[in-house]
Amino acid sequence: MALSGCTPAEARYEGFHMDTYVTLTARGLGSDELLERCAMRLTELENALSAYRPGSDIRRLNEAGGDWTALGEDAFKLLEESLRYAELTGGAFDPTIFSAMNAWDGMSGSVIPSDEALERLKPLVDYTGIELDEAGKRARLKPGQAIDLGAIAKGYAADCLFAIYREAGCAGIINLGGNIYAAGEKENGGKWRVGVRDPRGNGGMIEVIDASDISAVTSGDYQRFFESGGERYHHILDPETLKPARTDLHSVTVICESSAKADALATAVFVMGREAGGELLSREGLSALAVTEDWEAVWIGARE
Ligand code: AMP
Ligand code: MG
Repeated sequence: MALSGCTPAEARYEGFHMDTYVTLTARGLGSDELLERCAMRLTELENALSAYRPGSDIRRLNEAGGDWTALGEDAFKLLEESLRYAELTGGAFDPTIFSAMNAWDGMSGSVIPSDEALERLKPLVDYTGIELDEAGKRARLKPGQAIDLGAIAKGYAADCLFAIYREAGCAGIINLGGNIYAAGEKENGGKWRVGVRDPRGNGGMIEVIDASDISAVTSGDYQRFFESGGERYHHILDPETLKPARTDLHSVTVICESSAKADALATAVFVMGREAGGELLSREGLSALAVTEDWEAVWIGARE
């Protein structure tokens, strides 16, 4: 994704958070201070939600061996939201995918796990094994299960930053590695224009979306992958097979007011494919720009 409409008068922040490049722009009174607050919030979210960060809420939960674990507000809320999307997508989005992701060494290319190894992990990839205790803000997993919020955490973070913008009455673009929230409007009162990059990586755009107070999130087979023996292994796993999802799409860009929902659904619709994914989006009244296996850009879902 790329941005346009940014003028030199805007405040700008660039940093590296949640394993991705973050660019924030903001216009309005106190926008420098606003961006500082946003950067602090991102650090806070990272410390709570990263499965890799020692001491994070999610890491503590993963290491608890099936015991109840007290969680901070963000981790609890996001886990709750994740369960809703796991159910909504029939498990195409499943946050208990971490043990499988680890078997693939995070898609580094260093290992291709055997079918037997993946078979053994299958009982662990099952979101119904997550238990939440609303009153005590605690969670527990089935022993051996582990959570990975990588398919939704950036969306959740974009929502958190958008809340800060809105409260301050600031407009701008929140870009967490292509996970975009367009806050407010451009200075001239027009909508932001969010470009959707061609997944073939030729630097071109396949579409420019008019956006105001809305998020656009892309999942695709070109974002993180390795090649071996003529096969491409990308980073979005089918929770049924624990292998890179075999899908008829190269990418999906979901448009939604909730960036967490857009993020979870982009991952799920990619796994589900054009037809089942399109039906799910329609039921939710949402649209997505999809790139088909023939590299055709089509709208699926409500706008089809
Ligand atoms: P995204 O780029 O939002 O589609 O998220 C992909 C990341 O989420 C991967 O790098 C994994 O960490 C994790 N992941 C992979 N497959 C799934 C899945 N089916 N459901 C939930 N998380 C997944
Ligand atoms: Mg996602």
